[in-house]
Amino acid sequence: MFQRTRKVACPECNGTNFWNGNPKPTDQLTCRYCDAVVITYAEYVEQAALREAERMIAEFVESDVSRDLADLKAVLSTPELKHSA
Ligand SMILES: [Zn+2]
Repeated sequence: MFQRTRKVACPECNGTNFWNGNPKPTDQLTCRYCDAVVITYAEYVEQAALREAERMIAEFVESDVSRDLADLKAVLSTPELKHSA
């Protein structure tokens, strides 16, 4: 799931670093340019998950599904329809 986003920019020098292999949550990514600690794998996974969630929510909101949901909500909030079922 996160294979395509294993690239991390260093906060110090903005150099591009990558996670290699199969890191443990406590593993730290050290910048290959300036040796600063960029992020731990646990933090990275959390941020990647947040970005992925934001992306999915953005796509969901932009899609027609949100309009369908608005229609559904309108139907559900209409009292006479609630009792006819
Ligand atoms: Zn750096």
